[in-house]
Amino acid sequence: MTVRLRCPLCEVVVADGTADISPGTCPGCGARYEGGQASAPDSVRTALAAFGADTLDAMAVTSALFACTPAESAARGVAITSDQRDGFYCWWLFAREEGDCDVVATLGLLDSR
Ligand SMILES: [Zn+2]
Repeated sequence: MTVRLRCPLCEVVVADGTADISPGTCPGCGARYEGGQASAPDSVRTALAAFGADTLDAMAVTSALFACTPAESAARGVAITSDQRDGFYCWWLFAREEGDCDVVATLGLLDSR
């Protein structure tokens, strides 16, 4: 099985191999990525817990992420994407910390849209 994941924020290939993907940091832009579940809300819930933001509503954050254009996602430094593997795929949340805006604050902004 080949598993491939590309960062939605900078287009760098984060994973391209036969091993399954572990949460980590994008080598291109430094965004943290978490998730890896079969459904987008489950991946967001997993990522929020990993980011210490599990008080946020996973469904609301998921909806906000899907409502963002690629430009809005890039501006916020938060995006959701799926990986590519044989027959199915898993979802990953990418979040980049910029300046004084940390991942939790960025996700909180999304939640309040
Ligand atoms: Zn990146």
